[in-house]
Amino acid sequence: MRVLVTGGAGFIGSHTCVELLNHGYEAIVVDNLCNAKPDVMDRIEKICGKRPTFYCQDVCDREAMREIFAKEKPDAVIHFAGLKAVGESCSIPLRYYRNNLDSTLSLLECMQEFGCKKIVFSSSATVYGPYNPSPYVESMPVNTATNPYGWTKVFIEQILRDFAAADSELSVVNLRYFNPIGAHESGLLGDDPDGIPNNLMPYIVRVAAGQLEKLTIFGDDYDTPDGSCIRDYLHVVDLAKGHLKALEYASKHCGVEAVNLGTGRGQSVFELVEAFEKASGVKVNRIVGGRREGDLPAIWADTSKAEALLGWTADKTVEEMCADSWNFVNHK
Ligand code: NAD
Ligand code: UDP
Repeated sequence: MRVLVTGGAGFIGSHTCVELLNHGYEAIVVDNLCNAKPDVMDRIEKICGKRPTFYCQDVCDREAMREIFAKEKPDAVIHFAGLKAVGESCSIPLRYYRNNLDSTLSLLECMQEFGCKKIVFSSSATVYGPYNPSPYVESMPVNTATNPYGWTKVFIEQILRDFAAADSELSVVNLRYFNPIGAHESGLLGDDPDGIPNNLMPYIVRVAAGQLEKLTIFGDDYDTPDGSCIRDYLHVVDLAKGHLKALEYASKHCGVEAVNLGTGRGQSVFELVEAFEKASGVKVNRIVGGRREGDLPAIWADTSKAEALLGWTADKTVEEMCADSWNFVNHK
């Protein structure tokens, strides 16, 4: 099967390309490298002995995408391309709406024109918004986001539902990711944000590596057992494998499904820092600071649908996630 992977040079996309190539799929990556390094395809080739076909191209550019569809004739699409920083989305919302919505629309128009009927989309637990209690279940209402990034995911899920409602042959899987961390065991692929990281794990590894002075834990006065926020961290390789399960499902069924990809277990910030210290043997300097605006106290997934519908569960432990994140920063 020929799979067009938008955003395939990014953190989750690159790991998914490895899984695709290792399982006999052909991967065609379209990525404009706005948040990825040019050598990612070389690294994928080092791991798999095979290389995705690569187009350095903005997915918003519909004419360029038409040419790629005409040439490559993909059977399915995995749509990772998008901007993803929550804080940045509040300061430059129009850029987020333009990039994330336009890229999706140009992609869907090409799918329609070229008869490509299967799409797996990178949605997020953020679509559950501030009012649903954890564990999040796919049947909960998903119509309230708390920031422009989150709204792009809510809107795109709706666009995909409408797209599928108008074509009974379409198959759409909206994968709602929880908190992917970790890295490929080779140390060749991982989460490598430019500048100061926003997310917890990249921040922890940079403090451990001596590149940042200390971690600030955003609040220890939440209504949780140790007072810090709880998230459902999952290994990016497990997450990547979930995409192959979603593609298999989409090949056999039409219609739209939303599926949570998480472990079903929550870890607090303190617990993650301690697990990292144990896995790496390195102390992480930290202080407790104030709450970060917009953070919800506790988020984790109900994973029963992923297991029942896709036959997928996240297997890797928090220790493996921490060890692989540390291995990646030491390989770079
Ligand atoms: P990433 O930034 O590493 O990867 C996204 C890739 O898309 C980058 O390589 C970037 O260069 C590319 N891109 C962005 N806009 C593009 C455009 N218009 N045309 C072509 N390429 C474009 O992010 P990631 O962590 O791998 O996330 C992948 C997807 O998963 C995103 O849609 C993100 O919103 C979603 N998601 C991520 C997380 C997370 O915690 N990492 C959680 C939930 C959902
Ligand atoms: N966090 C923290 N310090 C940091 C970055 C994050 O304490 O420097 C906390 C944050 O408050 C949240 C958790 O770590 O509770 C995960 O944050 P991240 O930004 O990685 O993911 P998200 O908020 O999107 O779930």
